[in-house]
Amino acid sequence: MGLHPGVHATRGPSLFLLPDETAHPYIGCMAARPLIDGFGRRISCVRLSVTDRCDFRCAYCMPLDMTFLPKAEVLTLEELDAVASAFIARGVSRIRLTGGEPLVRKGFLELVQALKRHIGPSRDEGGLDELTLTTNGSRLARFAEPLFAAGVRRVNVSLDTLDAGRFRQITRTGDLAPVLEGIAAAKAAGLSVKLNMVALKGLNEDEIPAMVTWAGAEGFDLTFIETMPLGLIEEDRTNRYLPLTAVRRTLESRMTLVDSPERTGGPARYVRVAETGQKLGFITPLTHNFCESCNRVRVTATGTLFMCLGQEDRVELRDLLRDGGPAALDEALDRAMQLKPKGHDFVIERPGAAPAVSRHMSMTGG
Ligand code: SAM
Repeated sequence: MGLHPGVHATRGPSLFLLPDETAHPYIGCMAARPLIDGFGRRISCVRLSVTDRCDFRCAYCMPLDMTFLPKAEVLTLEELDAVASAFIARGVSRIRLTGGEPLVRKGFLELVQALKRHIGPSRDEGGLDELTLTTNGSRLARFAEPLFAAGVRRVNVSLDTLDAGRFRQITRTGDLAPVLEGIAAAKAAGLSVKLNMVALKGLNEDEIPAMVTWAGAEGFDLTFIETMPLGLIEEDRTNRYLPLTAVRRTLESRMTLVDSPERTGGPARYVRVAETGQKLGFITPLTHNFCESCNRVRVTATGTLFMCLGQEDRVELRDLLRDGGPAALDEALDRAMQLKPKGHDFVIERPGAAPAVSRHMSMTGG
């Protein structure tokens, strides 16, 4: 496997521990060396991509003929575990597994089951407050119960429409019915469901009030997202860009939205619907960037650590995992902190302009 002995945390059983592995050198001093970037922001959240592959080809995300990485370039489950453990050892308390579509990754459940050993102790003692995933829901029906058993308590499901025809139009290869079954299975298994809906001009904008009503009736949190200029697709994203200021105006013509100070550690800003108490989130990378409070970094399935979704600053972890050792990996995290930029500078205003960054969202995950 090529991992340096001792690269794994050893609290509780791990599927991936080899007989010769020794204790993680940082256990016991986790909170002592938190990851703090050059702007004083503490990094507590990691989005870890387990694959770049996806069974959908959402038109705003990637081209229909998307080329995926050769499997040999992708981190093994053991390496993914080692990366997660290295971050947890430095005080990261939330890990979101993402992709691509995480549930298409072979062995995904074993990875979650192994990471379960980190869940539980309060943040100051180290360990995870939350292990979660972002999924398109297509395979959730079969995974919901085992995910709950493995310690997952919340799933983020991407759902841009409740109309089967539109669903196919947006995802190009996906069907709505299994996704709705997956969401229902998640609820039945005891998982909290958070829906993410990308607001798309002329595609799903007329459905936004109906989505609010449905999510409210089902007891799901709902967050809207602005489409971001990440990676080339067939069409010009300018055509589909719908600022969330417009979404908010539409909703305000039907219900009373009250700004809420609630934060969940992510980029969303929340409102409550006065009439029902329902919570709605707004992620506005274009109309209002939220970088000053950014607490996140992202690792691709090949082990590239990106410090910002909208910038190119990166540190390669894969070779360190394979040939370095825990100290080299740890030193790389410190180096990364110095490289984290102040913020992204997304704009979608010039029709035909190139994306802000060339990589697709499916590489760095959401
Ligand atoms: N397959 C999983 C899913 O569907 O949630 C995880 C990966 S997907 C790339 C994560 C999220 O990114 C989804 O909610 C998707 O809608 C969103 N997304 C993809 N490309 C985007 C873009 N260019 N702008 C905004 N959101 C995007």
